[in-house]
Amino acid sequence: MTAQIIDGKAIAATIRGEIKTEVEAMQAQHDKVPGLATVLVGERKDSQTYVRMKKKACAEVGIASFSHDLPADISQADLLKVVQDLNANPDVHGILVQLPLPDHIDEEEILSAISLEKDVDGFHPINIGRLSMKRRDPLFVPCTPKGCIELLNRTGVTIEGKRAVVLGRSNIVGLPVAMLLLHRNATLTICHSRTQNLPQVVHEADILIAAVGRPEMVKGDWIKPGAVVIDVGVNAVEDASAKKGYRLVGDVDFAEAKEVASAITPVPGGVGPMTIAMLLRNTLDGAKQGLA
Ligand code: NDP
Repeated sequence: MTAQIIDGKAIAATIRGEIKTEVEAMQAQHDKVPGLATVLVGERKDSQTYVRMKKKACAEVGIASFSHDLPADISQADLLKVVQDLNANPDVHGILVQLPLPDHIDEEEILSAISLEKDVDGFHPINIGRLSMKRRDPLFVPCTPKGCIELLNRTGVTIEGKRAVVLGRSNIVGLPVAMLLLHRNATLTICHSRTQNLPQVVHEADILIAAVGRPEMVKGDWIKPGAVVIDVGVNAVEDASAKKGYRLVGDVDFAEAKEVASAITPVPGGVGPMTIAMLLRNTLDGAKQGLA
């Protein structure tokens, strides 16, 4: 069997097109556009790149960006004040504090200070708490996990009643994606670094979500024939033949897995593009809630 390749790049482009249309309609009807504030502390190159990509994506769909590029030595109190001012700004519907924050900053306090109604990253403890409870919908769902479910939906994969295995239990990916699968009535197993007999557990999965950050760890013979594989991992491995000297691979051995799975996401071009598309979606939804 050769798997269907789930084209996250194309699906994300479709979603961005849908968002653009909705933003235009909002502007025409209400003379308002959604606004996303980015808060970047310090000069980490990777964080700068992520923020730049998010702002570019906003511009392409007509969402206004509000940038706050702050010095690495900003005090906790001053950073808190920036968040509070953004909470009070009616043109800002989403606040994104780029992580990680410098060591002297209490990240938990900053993330908790973001207004629930503007928590488009979905990392506020109350939003995560609601995600983990029955019949308590969060205002926002974290973007990467939401993107994984959207990929399944748009590929026509049934989740209800299926055996789902999530590799990883991080607050950012593993745990929230597991909760989303549970809400959609999958029978769920969550694996982590202490899980025993991992290949056997993975082999039970009709739907496998891999988010461990270990290059090509999941081998083809771990995968149940016909399973759907969503590979969240992004790992740089040395490659002398590549221009940059490295290439990106997922947590799943793609070449092997695609011969066994029924559908699989590539890395890059699978989950990655969905994360930003879901951030735009959350920002638009936040702005719509403000109009309601
Ligand atoms: P973390 O390092 O926070 O979590 C990794 C998880 O994997 C942990 O729960 C850990 O277990 C588990 N794990 C680690 N090694 C093993 C192992 N050998 N066997 C079983 N489980 C293991 O990573 P993140 O969740 O933040 O990210 C995971 C991957 O997803 C990374 O490659 C990251 O780059 C990528 N990513 C991609 C995004 C995208 O937009 N495409 C967005 C965010 C992340 P334990 O809890 O026991 O330590």
